[in-house]
Amino acid sequence: MSFFGGGGTETFDRKKYESLTLSLRQTVLERSHHRCQKCSVKFKGSNGPFFEHINGSLKDNRPSNLRSLCEKCFEHVKKKESRKGRLGSMRNNLGQVFGK
Ligand SMILES: [Zn+2]
Repeated sequence: MSFFGGGGTETFDRKKYESLTLSLRQTVLERSHHRCQKCSVKFKGSNGPFFEHINGSLKDNRPSNLRSLCEKCFEHVKKKESRKGRLGSMRNNLGQVFGK
């Protein structure tokens, strides 16, 4: 149970992971065998893990709604989630700008 080390940086991101607890993250990681669930790369160093909310709801932190991703794959999710979260109604406009 020492995967996340001494927890020295835990308080840092506390707000961000308000309800995404350590045990939740461990559950998801164990389920994915500490690999990215998109490209199957193994997590190490700054490569991850990052967690995607599958249904797009950042408040839904159930393990079934979470997916562990590497830094590269999470880049795409981050764009998606920030669009949903902060820009909300601008989503359609942005979609046109990006051509998707
Ligand atoms: Zn990946």
